[in-house]
Amino acid sequence: MTAMPIQRHIDLTPYNTFAVAAVANYFAPVAGRDDLRAVLDGAGDRSRLILGGGSNILFTRDFDGLVIKNEIRGIRVVREDHDHAWVRVGAGEDWDGFVRWTLRHRLYGLENLASIPGAVGASPIQNIGAYGVEVGDCLEAVETIDLTSGAPRCYQASECALGYRTSIFKQPPRDRYFITAVTFRLSKTARLVTRYADVARAIEGLDPADLDAEMLSDVIRHIRRSKLPDPDELGNAGSFFKNPLVAPDQFAALVAGHGDMPHFSEPDGPVKLAAGWLIEQCGWKGRRVGACGVYPRQALILVNYGGARGEEILALARDIAASVKSRFGIDLETEPRII
Ligand SMILES: Cc1cc2nc3c(=O)[nH]c(=O)nc-3n(C[C@H](O)[C@H](O)[C@H](O)COP(=O)(O)OP(=O)(O)OC[C@H]3O[C@@H](n4cnc5c(N)ncnc54)[C@H](O)[C@@H]3O)c2cc1C
Repeated sequence: MTAMPIQRHIDLTPYNTFAVAAVANYFAPVAGRDDLRAVLDGAGDRSRLILGGGSNILFTRDFDGLVIKNEIRGIRVVREDHDHAWVRVGAGEDWDGFVRWTLRHRLYGLENLASIPGAVGASPIQNIGAYGVEVGDCLEAVETIDLTSGAPRCYQASECALGYRTSIFKQPPRDRYFITAVTFRLSKTARLVTRYADVARAIEGLDPADLDAEMLSDVIRHIRRSKLPDPDELGNAGSFFKNPLVAPDQFAALVAGHGDMPHFSEPDGPVKLAAGWLIEQCGWKGRRVGACGVYPRQALILVNYGGARGEEILALARDIAASVKSRFGIDLETEPRII
């Protein structure tokens, strides 16, 4: 196979779901390890950025170095026993396409993560999660190539330091480990997670015996369509802020002043607050600033109404974070990568 040559001056607008304009000085799609090796040989010491579906990134400037676009495909069952199948997936596979594949093959565990944009390779990076399930619940291993030495390294799930929207791959040195494949351990028996309030409401009245994993994933797709903007129609990167975690004593002080503050607490753990609610309380929901704004149906999502620059979106995010800090004393952390 001949590797694609490194391309020059590529407009990244179609490669990020915010649809903001930015130019990559060098750009190389890679479809396999040979491509990657060839690209690295020709790349010299240019700075690198690895890109999947561009759904968790905000470009606020052109990228002077090399953007490596992951297009490594392939889905294969590599092991099986009575209860489980281990499925190895090329990191450039579309995440939602893979979720659909699991359901077609009667393999379960990822149905609540239906309809999340992006590529499989990025799924462990922020331990994607939705509706009571995280990818870490089914993660077995992550295969990487160290871009500085070219050496392969496989991380078992227990080595990935998975947490709420985080993992070892979100820590420095970023862009050193190129994820080439991810292996998932999927169950042959569906154990449906329906405790999340929106889901529980949507299936109310349904006999649990009539609900299967495919229906549950359809319910979740429907909920998501009604709440989240479609990036093909309105540029966005999903939740722009993480839900903040606060210590129980800080929460006690907060709730004394705001009795209706939504929260989720774990026994003996920190309390998770709803960033969207905090933002809404500060009056941001639905507000438009120039070509960008806060999505009217979900205050956690910043949107590009067309032609917004990355810096404008970042400035809006900073203003929002400053007002939450000033009203509640809470620091909001951004979820997408800012370039
Ligand atoms: C409408 C919408 C809804 C969303 N809903 C959710 C949700 O419910 N839950 C959730 O967790 N997220 C959600 N997201 C965020 C996003 O879809 C996920 O984080 C997704 O996993 C990002 O995948 P990607 O391929 O687009 O990553 P990119 O945006 O391309 O990259 C994200 C980061 O990962 C790095 N990276 C990507 N691929 C690799 C690789 N192969 N090797 C090494 N580094 C790599 C990049 O350098 C970057 O730092 C949503 C986004 C949108 C637009």
